[in-house]
Amino acid sequence: MSAPAAVPHTRILAGLVLGAVAGCAVNLAFVEPGPPPRVPEWVRWVNANVAEPVGQVFLRLLFVTVVPLVFSSLAVGVAQIGSLGAVGRVGAKTLGYFLLISFVAAVIGIVLVNAVRPGEGLPQDTVADLQKTYGGDAAKKKKADFTVVEFVKQVVPSNPFAAAANLEMLGIITFALLVGVGITKLDPPRAELVTRFLEAVGELMVFIIMVAMKLAPVGVFCLIFSTTSQFGFGLLALLGKYAAVVLAGLAVQGLVVLPLFVWALTGMGPGVFFRKIRTSMVTAFSTSSSSATLPTNIRVAQTEFGIPMKIAGFVLPLGATMCMAGTALFEGVTVMFLAQVMLPEPLAFGDQVVVVILCVLTAVGAAGVPGGSIPLLMLVLASIGVEPGAIALILGIDRILDMCRTTVNNIGDMSAVVIVARTETADPDPASPPA
Ligand code: ASP
Repeated sequence: MSAPAAVPHTRILAGLVLGAVAGCAVNLAFVEPGPPPRVPEWVRWVNANVAEPVGQVFLRLLFVTVVPLVFSSLAVGVAQIGSLGAVGRVGAKTLGYFLLISFVAAVIGIVLVNAVRPGEGLPQDTVADLQKTYGGDAAKKKKADFTVVEFVKQVVPSNPFAAAANLEMLGIITFALLVGVGITKLDPPRAELVTRFLEAVGELMVFIIMVAMKLAPVGVFCLIFSTTSQFGFGLLALLGKYAAVVLAGLAVQGLVVLPLFVWALTGMGPGVFFRKIRTSMVTAFSTSSSSATLPTNIRVAQTEFGIPMKIAGFVLPLGATMCMAGTALFEGVTVMFLAQVMLPEPLAFGDQVVVVILCVLTAVGAAGVPGGSIPLLMLVLASIGVEPGAIALILGIDRILDMCRTTVNNIGDMSAVVIVARTETADPDPASPPA
């Protein structure tokens, strides 16, 4: 599968910065801080009729490629890795790394939130106000309780088209893995036929991604403008300590821990690593979606790092769904924060260990879409005895936190592909682009 044409990352970055500046300026000049923020009618109109529709065209053009791209690249990746043993080895390495960095992230979050204790001393009337304002949104997000049968149904689909239609990525991944292994068992001419067909599907998706990326500077401007122009900055001040803990944790994970892993396991310095993945990071930040960033990640892995498609096509689709270290950290901090606000006693050490484990597992299962982790976060809250509706307290600032945690999720995906490529290829420096 060939890579799409280079994305003008400076133009996307310009869209991001200009959108943020314009949105913040409108917000400061015309929006009463709240909560809830009081947004003038004309700002709502501009967002509803211009910024959001244009932003949605960009996002949806990326989303529309996700299911075919994940399916085709994963199946071809597995088929090309070859033997079941090799697939098992690469898969174990990949999943092991995902779990390790998510675990480290959740622990960082829990340590920070215990040290700062942002939930203590939050005025009761603020809590009541937030519940009243965002309680309705919280009720809409509630997911059915976790059951083993439901989980198994998500992972093992009975109908691949239904799984695709419902964006059940774990089910699509299982099906793609089975198809990929199956291809290795076919007669060579048939295996070749199916592989070439799937590669062609991937190339078609690349075409659509190219179209989407042409729109990226304007799309990103619109997405950021509509978020910042209506955002409750007053709310950010009220929840400042909590937001600061989330952001500090994400900074430690994204800017220290992950580059350290990359450096220790591949020898690549942080300067080179971050320079090469900047387009991926900007896309993740502006879309708040690991899934929407997947196409860009595959291109960056191939063009910037020279990573073979069999590795990029295997690790990155799994990463977009299962590797969410930023989300695990955010969940850990949020659960502890809400427990500090809502429960009379601090959570015991044993309960905190349970929180870490649940945050890692739910981050694996969360959908890579904006706010994808919120329903699962409500499950974690319920399991430690906090009313899930308490999520209402943070929903008003979630979009900004989502942009930041998705960026860290994405740094995790890119670190994984670089590390796995380094350990899987004979090339002494898989970090450098092909000649
Ligand atoms: N937006 C995140 C992602 O796509 C998921 C989440 O934490 O809500 O990676």
